[in-house]
Amino acid sequence: MLEIKNLHVKLEEEDKAILKGVDLTVEAGKVHAIMGPNGSGKSTLSYVLSGRDGYEVTDGGASLEGEDILEMEPEERAAAGLFLAFQYPVEIPGVGNMTFLRTAVNAQRKARGEEELSAGEFLKVIRAKAKDLKIDADMLKRPVNVGFSGGEKKRNEILQMAMLEPKMCILDETDSGLDVDAMKLVADGVNALRGEGRAFLVITHYQRLLDHIKPDVVHIMADGRIVKTGGPELALEVETNGYGDLLESA
Ligand code: ADP
Ligand code: MG
Ligand code: MG
Repeated sequence: MLEIKNLHVKLEEEDKAILKGVDLTVEAGKVHAIMGPNGSGKSTLSYVLSGRDGYEVTDGGASLEGEDILEMEPEERAAAGLFLAFQYPVEIPGVGNMTFLRTAVNAQRKARGEEELSAGEFLKVIRAKAKDLKIDADMLKRPVNVGFSGGEKKRNEILQMAMLEPKMCILDETDSGLDVDAMKLVADGVNALRGEGRAFLVITHYQRLLDHIKPDVVHIMADGRIVKTGGPELALEVETNGYGDLLESA
């Protein structure tokens, strides 16, 4: 599904290398987790994959189902099936959440050559999915993320993901700032989407989330590289011993 090879990225503005040769393959149907100390480049990796400005790829590449995504515009990446749930979801004043989602869903369907959903069909789908995530009707009418609590923003990200049905979902610290109940809702939302044709890259600081979203593979990122890869037990090792010992032995 996603193949990252020897990816080197620096900041556009300064000569500062952030990713220093990331190699990562995520197979369809799998959930991979990335853990790692603060500042190791986890968010940068997700930004570069989604096409955010300000970064320059100096070597290597990334492909989604064999297609070079780094050459695509951000909206082309989304149409190709890539979705990123941000660590800090953006607020969009003046644009209703429901309108935003309907536009996004229909743009996506159009790009895939599918028919647009009618207002009625869309409403039926979004109401059901919002209910699962305990997002009330009022939140659907308000401007996107404006005045939402941290937990509401994260749940709204998962709602977007559920509505867009992407193939490759990247969640960057979607658990940060969530209480246990909200984290469970988010995890349930992700688990409901797990399946054959879809893969996940779950970036998290803490093992906690991985109790609820059981990863197939766990990677440790440090100083711009994946330094260790293992099974779920690797996350437990981090929880118990921290990163220190792991990084020394890597
Ligand atoms: P993580 O998500 O693993 O905590 P980040 O990808 O956010 O790490 O950051 C990796 C490193 O790159 C950090 O040292 C961070 O300060 C630096 N960095 C990332 N983006 C910028 C930026 N726009 N300007 C300056 N430094 C940046
Ligand atoms: Mg960070
Ligand atoms: Mg980060």
